[in-house]
This record gives sequence, C-alpha cells and structure tokens, in this order.
Amino acid sequence: IPVEPFDLVIFGGTGDLARRKILPALFRRFCAGQMPHEARIIGAARSRHGADEYKATVRAAIVEFVGGNEAQSDALEGFVDRIDYVTVDARGTDGWAELAGKMRDGCVRAFYFSVAPALFGDLAERIHHHGIATEQSRIVVEKPFGNDLATARALNDTLAEHFDEGQIYRIDHYLGKETVQNLMAIRFGNMLFEPLWNSQYVDHIQITVAETVGVGGRGEYYDKAGAMRDMMQNHLMQLLCLIAMEPPAKFDPDAVRDEKLKVIRALDAVEPHHIVRGQYQALDGEHPGYREAAGNPRSSTESYIALKAHISNWRWAGTPFYLRTGKRLVARSSVISVVFKDAPHSIFGAEAGRHANVLSIRLQPNEGITLQVTIKEPGPGGMRLVDVPLDMTFAEALGPEGGDPPDAYERLIMDVIRGNQTLFMRGDEVEAAWAWADPMIAGWTARGEVPKPYESGSVGPDHAEQLLRRDGRAWRGIK
Ligand code: NAD
Repeated sequence: IPVEPFDLVIFGGTGDLARRKILPALFRRFCAGQMPHEARIIGAARSRHGADEYKATVRAAIVEFVGGNEAQSDALEGFVDRIDYVTVDARGTDGWAELAGKMRDGCVRAFYFSVAPALFGDLAERIHHHGIATEQSRIVVEKPFGNDLATARALNDTLAEHFDEGQIYRIDHYLGKETVQNLMAIRFGNMLFEPLWNSQYVDHIQITVAETVGVGGRGEYYDKAGAMRDMMQNHLMQLLCLIAMEPPAKFDPDAVRDEKLKVIRALDAVEPHHIVRGQYQALDGEHPGYREAAGNPRSSTESYIALKAHISNWRWAGTPFYLRTGKRLVARSSVISVVFKDAPHSIFGAEAGRHANVLSIRLQPNEGITLQVTIKEPGPGGMRLVDVPLDMTFAEALGPEGGDPPDAYERLIMDVIRGNQTLFMRGDEVEAAWAWADPMIAGWTARGEVPKPYESGSVGPDHAEQLLRRDGRAWRGIK
C-alpha cells in the first residue's frame, strides 16, 4: 500500500549512512510499490553538487549496496527521477532559502538528520528559522543519542526548542528488525507464553549480540564509546524492554513506550562484580588487536561487555537477565533465550537428567524461533529423555514472501512517513537508559579498571563464563 506523498530531506545525503542504508532502503520500498508517484527525496549536504551529480552518487550507491538485477532495471531510473539535491551548510546560511523553495504544500515533510549529532541543534534551528517545517513535519535522528545522561538531555532540550516530542523519531535500527517486532507478536499474540512469562516459571533470560567484525574504520569514534555506549545502552536495552515489559493495553506508540520506560526505571544498579568488560587481542598477526585497530595503544575501552541485570518489579523479582555483546567473537549472532525452570519433580528418576524448556528468538542470522522441548529418546532403551528443538526458521515457515525480511531501515523510514512512532525511542526512554548506564561507566572509570583480554574469534573473556558459572548457569552457545 503506497504511503502518502512526501518530501524527504536527507541532511548528510552524501554520507556513508545515507549511501549504505537510507537510500538503498528507499529504493527497495520504491521497487515494492510503496512510494507514491509524488514522493521526492532531497539530498542536502555541504558538498557542492548539482542534482545530476547527486543522482549519479545515488545510482552508484544503489548498485553497490543493493546490487543484483534490481539495481540495473528501469526501476533505478524511476527511483532516481525522484531525487533532488541542495547544497546546504548546517552552520551557515548557504542553501536554506533554496531548500525552503523546494518544499511542497500538501505533502508529508520529513527531515532525516544523517549528520554528526553536533549539527542536530543547528539543523533544527535553521529548519525552524526558514519556516521549512510545518506542525506535521517529522525529524529523524540517528544514534548515538548523547554520550551520557547530561548530553542526551541537552540534545533532547535542543530539539524540543523547535519540535514537539511527537515529531521526533529517534532511530534504534534494532527496533526495525522483523524478528524484534515478532517478539511482541509472539508474546502478545499467543496464549501459550504469557502466563509463564514471569519469575515463577522463568529461570533467567539471556540476550546475546555477538559480532565477528572488529572496530574497522570507526576506531576513533568507538574508542570514546565502547560496547556499553555503542550497543548495551541502546540496542540490548531495547531488546530487554520488549522481552520484559508488561502487555501494553494496545499497540500504540505511547502505550508501548510507557511500558518500556517502566522496565528501564525498574532496573537495579548493576553491581561492579556483575560486569565483565573485555578487549580483543590480535589473532595470529592476521587481524589487529583492539588497541591497534583503535589507534590507541593504552586504550582501556571495552570491545565486549557482559552483565547481570535485575528488574525489581512484581513480574521479574529474582530472575536475572544476562546481557552480553562484543566484537571479533566466534560468530555473528543475535539471540534472546528465555530459559524456563526445571519441572518441579522428575517422575522419570534422577538418571533421566534435568531438562528445561528454552525459547530462543534469533534476530540474526536465520531469523526465527526455536523452542527446546523434552521428549523420550527413541528406541527400546527405557524412559530416557532428550531435548529436541521445535524449530521455526521464518524463511522456511513463511516461504519466499515472508522469508526475505525487509531491512530495518525500510520499515522505519516508512513508519516515519506514516507518522507511527511505536518503533522509535522516546526522549525519556533514552534518558532513563543513560541514567542506568552512567553509574557503571563512572564506576569502572574511577576504579581505573582495564578490560580483560580475550582472543579474537572466541566467545569472549573467561570472566564472562564465570559470571554465569557462579550462579550454576551457562551461556547458550554463540554459534
Ligand atoms: P559521514 O561523515 O559519512 O557523512 C556526513 C554527512 O554530513 C556528509 O553528507 C556531509 O556532507 C554532511 N555534513 C557535514 N557537515 C555538514 C554541514 N556543516 N552542513 C551540511 N552537511 C554537512 O557520516 P555518516 O557515517 O553518514 O554518519 C551520519 C550520522 O549517522 C552520524 O551521526 C553517525 O553517528 C550516524 N550513524 C552512522 C552509521 C553508519 O553506519 N555510517 C550508523 C549509525 C549511526
């Protein structure tokens, strides 16, 4: 179903994010027939391009990042016809009058801030000053949203000077992933799980986001951030919220975000001995270690973090949430595992072993869900129990139509045009998440802690294994 006609201005339209994610996502939605004829995409950046030069940049980006036959077809020319460009200086006067002149009445106006956060305030102020935004206009802002509570608050205040909260779309692209939305469908669309979804039946929950890549070319930024700021405070926190929140009364932006906020506010401070930070080491001279990659030989920034969190509320009191994320690990894998308690009594005797159901929700790769159930081992060997997976890989279960999930950005950008904020972070959520993370960061900084080394291609530092072993538990395998 096509969305309403729109003018989407991409500030930073020549940058890496625009070329790699935003423009390819828009192109795919165009190919899917979701973009109405009147839709227009206006690149706006500092580079002195003409519209034709920018169209060539867009063509090249689509060929590189979408590739295949799609990008060579007539569709590409149809898409490029909707592209325009204005040279704009976020900190100066150049280009603003021209941009104002291009905006059309009767269209949704959306402004994507795909530039450094230091420019957000300048952009907001100039959009306002030049009368480019209407009351229905939307702005989209990327991560990182602040570096701590104080900077996030300052950013929220700056944006609030010119835009209402209902106009601000803070992207966390994890929320645009199909399986993440499925998490809500599974929890609230089935009778099966929700009655068991509490500390009475759930032993613990694990959230793992493992990457095989290192810091690559982002070393300078990453070394100031680390895994806590880059992944834990935002992406893993959002997953935690969706898995732990109370059922909202309806699937409505503020109803959902109110429940997520309550989860964050109910999080206890994490004790220092429940945090493990790691830093990857060089592997056989083939890949550089973290410090070399980050260009900081004395860096004490973590490329890995694991922690044990507690949510102090009626539903979750006593159920630990183990969260971990890191770079240069053995496999690329994002999984949430809900580990249920053992049956209270085994009628099959001690030799049958203890067995627990585990519901695993795989975000990547092979998006899908597995429920580990216990059955009788086949054969005449008596009543021996064995665990088998009830496996639903979406690609197999839903066929080619449902099996090729759209990129998170496709879903999120279309939601901006539709005016649906459900999958975007609200300002108070972001602030609450920083309020949880800040004391941990301040603590390890004050104690002068150095991250534990771990081998590239491993599952992370051994201390993270101990974090669970101490509790008589173990991480589920990353592979
Ligand atoms: P980039 O450096 O590749 O591009 C920056 C863009 O901003 C360019 O188009 C440049 O022309 C424009 N720009 C710079 N100064 C300007 C000014 N004064 N006036 C107008 N335009 C100006 O950066 P990027 O990697 O595309 O990242 C953009 C934003 O998205 C950053 O906030 C970044 O943290 C965030 N982000 C990027 C990625 C990614 O994968 N690249 C992922 C998540 C978030």
